[in-house]
Amino acid sequence: MDVALVSVGDELLAGDTVNTNAAWLGERLAERGASVERVTVVPDRIADIARVINEYAAEYDAVVTTGGLGPTHDDRTMEAVAAAVGRDVGTSEAVLEWLDEERDYQRSDLTNGTADLPVDARPLHNTVGVAPGCVVKNIYVLPGVPEEMQAMFESVASEFEGERRHVETVTLDEPESALVDRLRELETRFGVKVGSYPGENVRVKVESTDRDAVEEAITWLRENGIEAST
Ligand code: ATP
Ligand code: MG
Repeated sequence: MDVALVSVGDELLAGDTVNTNAAWLGERLAERGASVERVTVVPDRIADIARVINEYAAEYDAVVTTGGLGPTHDDRTMEAVAAAVGRDVGTSEAVLEWLDEERDYQRSDLTNGTADLPVDARPLHNTVGVAPGCVVKNIYVLPGVPEEMQAMFESVASEFEGERRHVETVTLDEPESALVDRLRELETRFGVKVGSYPGENVRVKVESTDRDAVEEAITWLRENGIEAST
C-alpha cells in the first residue's frame, strides 16, 4: 500500500516546528508494511492544501494529512479536503454527540466550526484534544498536535497494511566512497534494497520482504567490510 503524507502548517515551512509527525507516521506505516512515497509540507492556504491532496488521492492508495484542524482562523484543512473531493463542509452531529457523551462538552461550550467536517465524512474522534479528524474516500485527516495525531492514527492503523519488510543495519568504519562497489554488489547479488547513511561511520540499511535475503546480505557485508566497534 502506497501512502502520501501531507503536513499542513506555515510553522513547519518557517522551521519554527520540526515535522516530527511525518517521521512518526513514516515509522509506524513502515512497521505495518505500508510504503510512504511522498512527504509534502504545505502552508495554511486552502488552494495549496486542496491541490496537493487532490493529486495525491488520485496517485496513492491513501493520503494522511496532519495539522490545521479546529475552528481557529488558520485551520483550513477541513475546507481544503472538502474542496479536493468536491463536497461542502457541514457540522457533524455524530461528533457533537460524541463530545457531549464522552467528554461532557455541550454544543454551547464549543467554538463555532469545531465539529465541521466534509459532508458524509467518517469522523475520527479526538480522545486527547477536541477537534475531530475524519476519513473521506482515501484521505485521512489527523490533528497537528503530536499526542492527538498519534492517538487518532492508532484508531485507524489497521487500515494501513502491506507486505512486511525486514530491515537490518550494519555500521561500517570505512569511507562511503570505498563502499560503492560492495553496496552495488549487495543489491544485485541478494536482490535487497540498500540504503547508505554516512555520518561518523556509514550506516548501511538492508531491506527486503524476504527475511533470508536480508540475513544473507548482512552476513556477506560483515564478512566483506570493516564493522565499526560499538
Ligand atoms: P488545534 O486543534 O490544537 O489547533 P491542529 O490540528 O489545528 O491543532 P495545528 O494548529 O496545525 O494543529 O498545530 C498545533 C500544534 O501542533 C503546533 O503548534 C505544533 O506545535 C504541533 N504540530 C503541528 N504540526 C506538526 C508536525 N507536522 N510535527 C510536529 N508538531 C506539529
Ligand atoms: Mg490549529
